[in-house]
Amino acid sequence: KAVRPQIFARFSTVAEPSSRQHNPPRVPNLIGGAFVDSQSSESIDVINPATQEVVSRVPLTTNEEFRAAVSAAKQAFPSWRNTPITTRQRIMLKLQELIRRDTDKLALNITTEQGKTLKDAHGDVFRGLEVVEHACGMATLQMGEYAPNVSNGIDTFSIREPLGVCAGICPFNFPAMIPLWMFPVAVTCGNTFVLKPSEKDPGASIMLAELAMEAGLPKGVLNIVHGTHDTVNAICDDDDIRAISFVGSNVAGMHIYSRASAKGKRVQSNMGAKNHGIVLPDANIDATLNALVAAGFGAAGQRCMALSTVVFVGDSKSWEDKLVERAKALKVSAGIEPDADLGPVISKQAKERVCRLVQSGVESGARLLLDGRNIVVPGYEDGNFIGPTILADVTADMECYKEEIFGPVLLCMQAGSLEEAINIVNKNKYGNGAAIFTSSGAAARKFQTEIEAGQVGINVPIPVPLPFFSFTGSKASFAGDLNFYGKAGVNFYTQIKTVTQQWKDLPGGSGVSLAMPTSQ
Ligand code: NAD
Repeated sequence: KAVRPQIFARFSTVAEPSSRQHNPPRVPNLIGGAFVDSQSSESIDVINPATQEVVSRVPLTTNEEFRAAVSAAKQAFPSWRNTPITTRQRIMLKLQELIRRDTDKLALNITTEQGKTLKDAHGDVFRGLEVVEHACGMATLQMGEYAPNVSNGIDTFSIREPLGVCAGICPFNFPAMIPLWMFPVAVTCGNTFVLKPSEKDPGASIMLAELAMEAGLPKGVLNIVHGTHDTVNAICDDDDIRAISFVGSNVAGMHIYSRASAKGKRVQSNMGAKNHGIVLPDANIDATLNALVAAGFGAAGQRCMALSTVVFVGDSKSWEDKLVERAKALKVSAGIEPDADLGPVISKQAKERVCRLVQSGVESGARLLLDGRNIVVPGYEDGNFIGPTILADVTADMECYKEEIFGPVLLCMQAGSLEEAINIVNKNKYGNGAAIFTSSGAAARKFQTEIEAGQVGINVPIPVPLPFFSFTGSKASFAGDLNFYGKAGVNFYTQIKTVTQQWKDLPGGSGVSLAMPTSQ
């Protein structure tokens, strides 16, 4: 049956918790322009991590429904790719206006389903909105190249054309930003899209799709299917899907990368991280400590750009005590509370995993400078909260260092020199980002040149690049060769066609030559 998503959105964020608990709404799929409830009787509860309240239920989409979504996208492709690029851009222009209009609603939904603070949820929406703004200039971004008279009377030009049906598979930690890294770029390039949001917080994707349709995106251009492994595998195997954008963990990302590339698809796979910040003794103490605390504990450490490991070089090790003082001052509470600095982690299982990794660090000899594992938040006693936690004297062989923790836990290591610190970072398998804090230009330049990480911060914690650049994770943090958004993103969602044309009065009677044509 058709479902009106406005009603869904209202239910999932504003309805009284007690009425939601009684009858949580099912999250609709979006197929061929209609928001429809799945026929599947199986669903997963979407749980507010601050309260354990069931916010909504996500269906495990049936195979028939999945096929219907792909076929709607396939059917919509020919006319959408022929829709003028200016029209496609204008839809994005309208979409960015509507996202601004509804930012508060989107943010409230994100806080309810994902747990981050309302202010942080606004940032989640805004960083995605910037990609939509960038997509408004697609005509320029997608331009090809032209070389006149490459041979006598012959010109060559290349054009970038859309691929067809593309798909996106999303993680839980940025319910708005990451879908917005994907579909606005893909569809403005002329592709059609099938999006699979995270089953943990699908509400923002539905609200964004609703706005995209209000902005004028034709039926079938954007489709949404919910589910988990089976839906993901169906996306990897489907012959009509040409490209997959994935963001999430390494286990899922490498599985998707190999399964889908074996079927000949393009894949861009952004995965896990262990981002290091190197602190030199000449850094500005105040600004550095603030940056470490914000990037280590913001979003409860559940950002792929979280700064999870600090390497203190030489004397800066004595700053650990000050770091602890600042971390202690942070307020842990439900994201909906105006004074909260950090909210809960996404699930009880995630909390258990984080606590286990902290414990393993302690057992292998790390010093627990701050322990947030037993925090109780008044009024939210059932929430999955972990307070800021700091482990010092961490070494590279510890499990807590080798694994991505993805919680509000900062590991402190030490190095005798910048050289040694750079070696520590480069030996780590991940390569999402790394930062240095120093007042020495020479040290910063050495770091920038020698560090093996995709995103480099100098006196800033790891930045998520603005959309005119690309998100450039490397090593185990990325698989594929065309990154998300920016020029690389446009290249990912388009293929090059090279045209060679000859327009001249052909001289008669020159005969046929079977030799390899050469330019002259
Ligand atoms: P996840 O891998 O558990 O889930 C991501 C998506 O993959 C979900 O839609 C899920 O349904 C699906 N999935 C999960 N396991 C699967 C499997 N075995 N087979 C097929 N599909 C599967 O990730 P998450 O917990 O939602 O997100 C957190 C992870 O995402 C962290 O590792 C974080 O570093 C990473 N992340 C990376 C970036 C980046 O840009 N590098 C950005 C955000 C998050």
